[in-house]
Amino acid sequence: MAAGGGHDTLIKHVLVVGGGTAGWLAACHLAKALRSADATGVRVTLVESADIPTIGVGEGTVPAIRKSLQHLGIDEADFIRECDATFKQSIKFVDWLHAPNGTSHAYHHVFDYPANNGLDLTPYWLMGGAGNASFVDAVSVQGQVCDAGLGPKVMTNRQYEGLTSYAYHLDAAKLAAFLTGHATSKLGVEHKLANVTDVVLAEDGSIKAVTTDAFGDLEADLFVDCTGFSSLLLGQKMGVGFIDKRDTLFVDHAVAAQVPYTSADAPIPCHTISTAREAGWIWDIGLTERRGTGYVYAADYTDHDRAEAVLRDYLRESIGDAADEVATRRIPMRIGYREKFWEKNCVAIGMSQGFVEPLEATGLLVFDATARMLADQFPPTQAAMPLLAKRFNDRVRNAWDRVIDFIKLHYCLSKRDDTAFWRDNRDEAKLPEGLRENLALWRTQPPTVYDFPNKFDVFGIENYLYVLYGMGFETDMAPLEHRYTDTVLAREDFGYVRQMADQMTGQLLPHRTLIDRIKQYG
Ligand code: FAD
Repeated sequence: MAAGGGHDTLIKHVLVVGGGTAGWLAACHLAKALRSADATGVRVTLVESADIPTIGVGEGTVPAIRKSLQHLGIDEADFIRECDATFKQSIKFVDWLHAPNGTSHAYHHVFDYPANNGLDLTPYWLMGGAGNASFVDAVSVQGQVCDAGLGPKVMTNRQYEGLTSYAYHLDAAKLAAFLTGHATSKLGVEHKLANVTDVVLAEDGSIKAVTTDAFGDLEADLFVDCTGFSSLLLGQKMGVGFIDKRDTLFVDHAVAAQVPYTSADAPIPCHTISTAREAGWIWDIGLTERRGTGYVYAADYTDHDRAEAVLRDYLRESIGDAADEVATRRIPMRIGYREKFWEKNCVAIGMSQGFVEPLEATGLLVFDATARMLADQFPPTQAAMPLLAKRFNDRVRNAWDRVIDFIKLHYCLSKRDDTAFWRDNRDEAKLPEGLRENLALWRTQPPTVYDFPNKFDVFGIENYLYVLYGMGFETDMAPLEHRYTDTVLAREDFGYVRQMADQMTGQLLPHRTLIDRIKQYG
């Protein structure tokens, strides 16, 4: 029975509107959790327009995606083959600390946790216990594995397991197509191609149906708005407002380009390269058949022609004059999130819900996590909805706020002085309060787990450590030194990491070779 039919009504049919990666991930999670072979389960239908394109970007992920793909019953080798996927072990941040001035600064934010054999090595590194080694190289092998161009696993590793932790780079359009096949053939999702032309509300303000050009009105008990930035159901029809976060995160446009490799066997970096530029930063992602690149910039600090020139200049360094011929696409971005993500019987997942910017690949991460949350805590009846909606809204808002803290961290630690964009990013008044407080605390002691009390936060202490100390953040250790007396053990642990780095770099395959073998042998 459709919405508005009574508060103890069972929820039997979910309609997902929109078939980008968010829509298909949501449909997969819901169908996996709720469908059953007999009529007792919940039907999941997805309707998408054949005329309105998906955003078509979103090529970086974080390790949580592995759990999701495995949970959904996806074969890793099939996924790699079908989505032109490669492995990602880190983001390498180039020139974020200083504008290049003869020398370039770079650090890795890797996915492996810092080595910790019962002893937190951070204070010992801060006190100089690892000599000249960077933080990441002192506590993890993974930056060195990336710099050596190696993949994260050997062929005898099981699917979704590696010698180091990893995520993927992937072709976003191919992922949506791959998930379409999986959802419809393996998970029983019904698929309809139609344009939604209107949204019909019931008397209580919930959604009764969406009107389509091809199938007339499509009714359901719960609607999942995955219509991208347009937020057709939750934003436009239900009037849930948008909280703009451009006062904290300034970038609001991207100019993207797909770039061919210079040769078929060109090495593929096993990390995203993020290079800071005058009014933002450039992503560079190696897929199997091409690179995906783009300059993310703040239109208040530059203009669109200049932004395109910055991207072409960057590409010229690797592909020469061919950079002038590469097709580019400008993408405006809405930076912020909705006041609510679940209103009455409508839940927004995907960019209809919120989006900050591509740094740290938080889009798919949050959308996948919130789709899973909805599926895991799905309301059996209409009456169960309001309480779940309230909790969902609190949690998702908290997730976005913590994502914003972490993204802003990268900008506010920069010492770049070349443009107003970078100087303004250090303005204390524009830092979220929690981040400002944490930074003040971490100047007097290194971060501890007590600073990260919420186990559902998407970024934890490890992520902060790599960025803070990769960016040369200074914690005054002088008053604390007497607390850290395990110097012999620390030296042994640092030595162990060095030894493991030598061992692993001798054992792991070059990234492209690994991908080729997986594609061939599975
Ligand atoms: P879309 O892809 O826009 O899909 C919207 C869907 O709604 C489409 O199927 C469309 O047909 C349908 N639709 C719209 N209106 C109607 C209608 N009237 N009737 C029927 N159907 C309709 N995320 C990451 O995780 N990592 C990254 O590295 C990353 N990089 C990014 C870079 C940029 C520049 C941008 C802008 C985003 C990036 N993202 C990234 C985010 C990523 O692109 C999104 O998470 C992902 O693509 C999900 O988008 P979506 O499905 O919400 O929306």
